[in-house]
Amino acid sequence: MQQFAGKSVFKGIVLGPVLLFGGQDDQVRRKKIEDAEAEVSRMDAAREKAKNQLQALYDKAVKEVGESSAAIFEVHQMMLDDDDYLDSIQNMIRSELVNAEYAVAMTGDNFAEMFANMDDDYMKARAADVKDISNRVIRILEGREDVDMSSMDPAIIVADDLSPSETVQMDKEKILGFVTVHGSTNSHTAILARMMNIPALIGVPMDLNQIRTGMTAVVDGFEGTVTFEPDEELCAETRKKMEEEQEKLRLLEDLKGQETVTKDGRKIHLYANIGSVSDVGYVLENDGEGIGLFRSEFLYLGRDDFPSEEEQFQAYRQVAQTMAGKKVIIRTLDIGADKQVDYFNLGKEDNPALGYRAIRICLKQPDIFKAQLRALFRATTFGNISIMYPMITSVEEVKRIYEIVEEVKKELDEAGIVYKNPEQGIMIETPASVMVSDELAEIVDFFSIGTNDLTQYTLAIDRQNAKLDDFYNPHHPAILRMIKMVVDNAHKHGKWAGICGELGADLELTEEFVRIGLDELSVSPSMVLKVRKAIREC
Ligand code: PEP
Ligand code: MG
Repeated sequence: MQQFAGKSVFKGIVLGPVLLFGGQDDQVRRKKIEDAEAEVSRMDAAREKAKNQLQALYDKAVKEVGESSAAIFEVHQMMLDDDDYLDSIQNMIRSELVNAEYAVAMTGDNFAEMFANMDDDYMKARAADVKDISNRVIRILEGREDVDMSSMDPAIIVADDLSPSETVQMDKEKILGFVTVHGSTNSHTAILARMMNIPALIGVPMDLNQIRTGMTAVVDGFEGTVTFEPDEELCAETRKKMEEEQEKLRLLEDLKGQETVTKDGRKIHLYANIGSVSDVGYVLENDGEGIGLFRSEFLYLGRDDFPSEEEQFQAYRQVAQTMAGKKVIIRTLDIGADKQVDYFNLGKEDNPALGYRAIRICLKQPDIFKAQLRALFRATTFGNISIMYPMITSVEEVKRIYEIVEEVKKELDEAGIVYKNPEQGIMIETPASVMVSDELAEIVDFFSIGTNDLTQYTLAIDRQNAKLDDFYNPHHPAILRMIKMVVDNAHKHGKWAGICGELGADLELTEEFVRIGLDELSVSPSMVLKVRKAIREC
């Protein structure tokens, strides 16, 4: 049993098998072994498994991309049978009494160097292949094999770190929990964990070389601990806690269908945040009254090219139709910062959070923006869609957006495509937008405060930097005063104001938010009923 502490990003508890997800330190350690023949057998078994994997890859590739492109997997299988390669590994294990991982890594390096130094271009290119097959065998020896995230069994994902695009490709139904060495509590991966209602820990100082796929683990988001290979006592205790949690959730069920009103009858609109069409299920399950933030950029992540206008239209239409007339606020793409997409060719920036992201990309590359706006406008006739623009800093930006919107509407008119005029609002997530919120309120339909970025930019704290998690304080009086200022300015102009950042679900502040006069809170679906309970107690 081995226990580590980390920072909890979602309070829940789970017991289940571990799935080690790539990206960890590839360095192989040299270890002394005693039984050389056992180590040789272990290597042989791993090699056989690698060959089976390659055969499966070959078969799949033949079907999908044809025989000639698949041939590389056949070459890799043959290399795994090469006598010189195998002799070198076995010899090293027997003569130096070293672990198989180390012998394979050293042999792989030596052979790669030898190929790289050859004159023949074909042979030179084999250097990468020999590294590739050696890494495959090492991964098998270490128990961290290729993971097909789309067909995994339910598991706790353990990783060095997870990017939003990696997370987005996972089959969410199968993820029991997340545990990562890195990551910050305000990262989008943490936000996804909250969305999915699963226990998650970040900043866990574990050695991934000691962890294997298939191990059992307990992730306790209440205590902020993960325990690998727990003893029977802890397993029993965990099962009991999991049942108690289920019971608490059952009690919250009574709040479904109830109004979100304070004791003195003030109605607060309680919406939910989503990142994909499939998340709508979580919203309905938790009785969200609408969608206050659809992070549309997730449609752009984890793929090789832009989603087409048609593809986007289908996604927006589906969400609007499924929500059946309830409000659906779709935010235009917020790519950049931690949400990197290769095909945008954003280039490397020293300060991506302060860089070319969100509305800045849309204003500089209006073709990308227009495709999204066209899809959004076409979807407006299928439900109650509002459009929201991220990272606004000035009145001029909004005016420029409106010009582009008018161009799009004109194009649609000319093409005879019908649409409704949606409400158009902005995210208030930069200090500049707070300070000019009185002027912005005159020209937009609503404000939605993005407290995640507003905290980052106001306190000058990178929300991705785990080292600063202790300084990242969204309860800072500067943030609360800004929220008040934004709400007052919105109301002065007859507009509504809400919060769609993570702070909206902070139950310690619910009463304060009601007092400040917020009209709407948009929270992760898993928090809807808890926030409703808190508002009804105000
Ligand atoms: C925010 O910044 O608070 C927000 C809701 O947007 P995101 O977290 O996607 O940046
Ligand atoms: Mg933001």
